Amino acid sequence: MRLVLLGPPGAGKGTQASAIVKKYNIPHISTGDIFRANIKAGTELGKKAKEYMDKGLLVPDDLVVSIVKERLAENDCKEGFLLDGFPRTVNQGEALDIELEQMGLKLDKVVNIDVEREVLIERAIGRRICKSCGATYHIKFNPPKEEGICNVCEGKLFQRDDDKKETVERRIEVYQKQTKPLIDYYTKKRLILNVDGSKPIDILFEEIIKALE
Ligand code: ADP
Ligand code: AMP
Repeated sequence: MRLVLLGPPGAGKGTQASAIVKKYNIPHISTGDIFRANIKAGTELGKKAKEYMDKGLLVPDDLVVSIVKERLAENDCKEGFLLDGFPRTVNQGEALDIELEQMGLKLDKVVNIDVEREVLIERAIGRRICKSCGATYHIKFNPPKEEGICNVCEGKLFQRDDDKKETVERRIEVYQKQTKPLIDYYTKKRLILNVDGSKPIDILFEEIIKALE
């Protein structure tokens, strides 16, 4: 299964991605996670990406595309993959098409998770992430058993730097201008699967799996 998850920030891409990759046993490729890991490790790539991420802007296409190309060439992507948060511009979508064509591969589906603006803001602001294993929680909609502690590994939970209200609003604006045109792009290719992201996490997951099978 070769999938892309599309949707505005806070729509629930990462949450659904974690469940989908378990079900299909495919690697979860999140460009946001790759950048955050590089920031944590203090790499040059991390330093460059952080400048854009902290402002709620997109990291330049050339940087993102080269990372994804390298990642797709790895062995574990042979039987499939799930791209989460990539592509985010039509230019990135075109670059992905070229790369997949050269690899002799095709996408199976692009799952587009749609959620209204006010809900996105509430979801992003309340998001908490485990420092150790990266699991995602929400203080209201998906709280951990013990406040501030990960259910899976007991790591400490933290709030992302770019999940402040002003930055989230900027990221939604950037989504509208730069990422939303991809819905049209993939609709024309007959790859899009539109789902209503306002539903509860488990129900949405069941709906996505049913539609993919
Ligand atoms: P994205 O990867 O699209 O930015 P996340 O998967 O990180 O979004 O979800 C954003 C926040 O919303 C997280 O705190 C997550 O726990 C919560 N969340 C995700 N899906 C739902 C849902 N269907 N209903 C309520 N809250 C959700
Ligand atoms: P995410 O974890 O998907 O919410 O991404 C966090 C941030 O990383 C975004 O706001 C961007 O600054 C950057 N980023 C992640 N993926 C991409 C991408 N495909 N293109 C450009 N920037 C990206």
